[in-house]
Amino acid sequence: MSDDRFGDALTAPFWEAARERRLVVQACTACGAAQFYPRPFCLACESDAVEWSEASGLAQVYSMTTVRIPIGAGFEPPYVVALVELDEGPRLVTNLVGDCSIGDRVRVAWRDRDPDPPLPVFEPIPKEG
Ligand code: ZN
Repeated sequence: MSDDRFGDALTAPFWEAARERRLVVQACTACGAAQFYPRPFCLACESDAVEWSEASGLAQVYSMTTVRIPIGAGFEPPYVVALVELDEGPRLVTNLVGDCSIGDRVRVAWRDRDPDPPLPVFEPIPKEG
C-alpha cells in the first residue's frame, strides 16, 4: 500500500479487511487461540502459525469511560471509549455508539473516514421483540 499508516506488514491485512467492513483477528492454527492486536507469533503457544480469521463482530462491553474533554480534531466530546471482549476472546479498545453499559452485548459497526479505511466501533445489539 502507498499509505504507510495502513501499510505495515503486520497490520495491512486488518485494514484491507476493514475496507470491506470485515473485522478480522489473528488465529493460531497450532493451538486455536485468537489474538488482537496482531503479532508475528501466537501469544499462547509462541507458534508463528498465525493467520487472519474473520470475527463474528459480536462482543461484550468489558469496560468503558466517557471522554468529555477535547483532545484533538476529529474527536468531538463527549464520546465513549471502551474495552470490548470479542466472542473470539481478544479485547479491543474501541468507541461505543449508542446507549451501552458494562456487560452489554454489542456488535461491530463501521465509522467511515474516507479516504482512510473505516474504523470499527461497537453499537448495542437491539433487543428481540
Ligand atoms: Zn498458538
